[in-house]
Amino acid sequence: MSAKLIDGKYVAELTRNQVREDVNHWVESGNRRPFLQVIQVGTDPGSTTYVRSKTRACEDVGIETDTNRLPDTVSAKQLKDLIRTHNENDGVDGILVQLPLPAHLSSHDVIESIDYRKDVDGFHPMNVGRLAVDQPTFRSCTPAGIFELFKHYSIPVKSKHAVVVGASNIVGSPMAIMLSRENTSGKATTTICHKFTKDLTQHTISADLLVVAAGQPEMIRGEMVKEGVVVIDVGINRVADETSEKGYKLVGDCHFESVSEKASWITPVPGGVGPMTVAMLMKNTLLAAKKSIYPE
Ligand code: NAD
Repeated sequence: MSAKLIDGKYVAELTRNQVREDVNHWVESGNRRPFLQVIQVGTDPGSTTYVRSKTRACEDVGIETDTNRLPDTVSAKQLKDLIRTHNENDGVDGILVQLPLPAHLSSHDVIESIDYRKDVDGFHPMNVGRLAVDQPTFRSCTPAGIFELFKHYSIPVKSKHAVVVGASNIVGSPMAIMLSRENTSGKATTTICHKFTKDLTQHTISADLLVVAAGQPEMIRGEMVKEGVVVIDVGINRVADETSEKGYKLVGDCHFESVSEKASWITPVPGGVGPMTVAMLMKNTLLAAKKSIYPE
């Protein structure tokens, strides 16, 4: 089998077009434009790139945005005081603190200081908890984007065996929760693997649906998956490439050539999951502005 490509760039564009239309309608109905406050601590080039793509997406769909850039020496108190001013500002609908944070700051502590009604990343324990009990919530953007891809390509999830490799709070865990829930989301039989899993192949080979978010370049190879599997490769890894002007190229957590030989569907890297994450952030910001999840 040779896999069909899941085109995240295209589906993200459709999603953004829909958000733009909804934002226009919202504003034409007499409401102010949604507003996303971004906070970046330090000057990590990866974070700068992500912040740029998020603020550009805001401009594209008509969401207002501003970025606070703080030095990497900022104290937890200073950062949380700033977040508190945004929490209390009725003109701010969504607050996003770009991760990772410098080592002296606890991301748990910082995320918990965001008003959960403005947590458009869906990382606050209140929103993760509501996800786990099938209640309306800000779903974290990467898993939510993957579910949009399933929907767009009519990829069945219910009753399948889904295997998630990676159990981080921002991707693997919420993905596994969404896949496994019986009422609102995936309804799949779900296995979660992580760095302590023994014999990873024993699990990946039985997957009908494989989501990989481990941050390990090309770790999953063709011999580790079964014929016809649907593969969602979340990984974005920079590896050295002398033939490229930048000196590196981006690869996923799957070895694309060998895995796509056996898969029925696969996401490319780049152009798969990444653009969906940003599109879902736009959707969550509009939901926050409309107070759709937490009515007043
Ligand atoms: P993380 O480092 O926080 O978590 C990695 C997870 O993978 C952990 O649970 C760890 O136990 C597991 N893991 C690591 N090595 C493993 C191995 N050999 N076998 C099995 N499990 C293993 O990473 P993260 O923030 O979840 O990100 C994962 C990847 O996804 C990264 O490449 C990141 O850049 C990418 N990412 C992409 C998007 C997107 O929008 N496409 C969004 C977020 C993260």
